[in-house]
Amino acid sequence: MDGIFIRVEVDPAAAADGELARKLEEACPVDIYAAGAGGVRIVAENLDECVLCELCLDAAPAGAVRVVKLYDNGAALERS
Ligand code: SF4
Repeated sequence: MDGIFIRVEVDPAAAADGELARKLEEACPVDIYAAGAGGVRIVAENLDECVLCELCLDAAPAGAVRVVKLYDNGAALERS
């Protein structure tokens, strides 16, 4: 997709966690995460709004979420 500058990755096991899905939905100021019946859904049309605030990383267990900067050779924001 043109114009997308980040990719968000959620570990598949974590993505199925309804509780985590709600936390991510609440944490992200630009609604990149939505909590659905199956867990976390990434709202693709909002990806360009990411402000790299890292609130999603703070809301998730270590390693569960990565925000990959596609414009920066794939450098990732993540917690280990
Ligand atoms: S870094 Fe901030 S704006 Fe970007 S996806 Fe995470 S919570 Fe949302």
